[in-house]
Amino acid sequence: MPDRPSSLPDTPAADPRHDWTLEQTEALFALPFPDLIHLAQRVHRAWHVPNTVQLSTLLSIKTGACPEDCAYCPQSVRHAAGVEAEELMPLPQVLERARAARAAGATRFCMGAAYRSPKARDLERISQMVSAVHELGLETCATLGMLSPPQARQLKQAGLDYYNHNLDSSEEFYGQIISTRSYQDRLDTLAAVREAGLHVCCGGIVGMGETPRDRALMLLTLANLPQHPESVPINQLVRVPGTPLAEAADVDPLDFVRTIAVARVMIPRAHVRLSAGRSSMSDELQTLAFLAGANSIFYGEKLLTTGNPDVAHDRALLARLGMRCEERGAAPDDSLGGAAAAAARGPSQAAVHGAT
Ligand code: SF4
Repeated sequence: MPDRPSSLPDTPAADPRHDWTLEQTEALFALPFPDLIHLAQRVHRAWHVPNTVQLSTLLSIKTGACPEDCAYCPQSVRHAAGVEAEELMPLPQVLERARAARAAGATRFCMGAAYRSPKARDLERISQMVSAVHELGLETCATLGMLSPPQARQLKQAGLDYYNHNLDSSEEFYGQIISTRSYQDRLDTLAAVREAGLHVCCGGIVGMGETPRDRALMLLTLANLPQHPESVPINQLVRVPGTPLAEAADVDPLDFVRTIAVARVMIPRAHVRLSAGRSSMSDELQTLAFLAGANSIFYGEKLLTTGNPDVAHDRALLARLGMRCEERGAAPDDSLGGAAAAAARGPSQAAVHGAT
């Protein structure tokens, strides 16, 4: 067995680091699997209440006909994936779905719209949706494509908590997946979202044909942002017929779990979300992902256009694992670091309720 690389931490850092190197990141990926899971568990337990999972429900509020060319996405107008375009959903319908998500136990409601960037008139309507969902007591999240600083501020004022905008992959690989917007465009949107005071949800996709180095570079970019994302969704590609990635090669499930574990170690405070692709994962693989530090899932029978495990199955799995659902606001305390935050809260004081 190789020696443990000397550049890796023996104990979880007291504060999140922003100075990771590619060598260190690749060394994490190269750890023996049990060592990596052990390290990820230690980091996870230093920063989060163990055995809990945050539930986000995702709703497509405007579907299809997107002018962008993201190779994985069935909503692109350039791919013949058979997604029927739908106009922006009326507010009462959005509220009905948000109430149902809340009743089912979700704490965050994510509204996704297939735009390059939202037009002013649409953003006004979406701002009203955000305010109304906020009033229900749910955390609000939106993913609407690129945002300018004033657009981000408008959403913040409407009551938006999180904005999702994924890096998808490394900057090097990015050009093979998307040509209609640049990596820098993505970073600019993330900066606008931060400046507006919104929480950032940003992650990527595994299984698009990227190399292990691309996965390391993507996590390196996220971990070295001036402020870490509060949510890091790690998606496994859903190979949708009609998209350019419909025939993408299988990913070794253990490599997928490694990506989650390395995200947990490098971005310790974030909720790492086991996101798209769960439909094709066994309960055992999802369990490994939880062991690797995933502590958030999309919850509900549909993602934007693709399937997701049903709610009853998710609840049964969490019950089998003895895991609980996190209540709203159970994120690490910003004023405390790592183990101190966890110790100060303790599982008994954590805002959690049973999964069943
Ligand atoms: S991922 Fe988003 S921006 Fe890209 S094609 Fe799909 S909806 Fe459009």
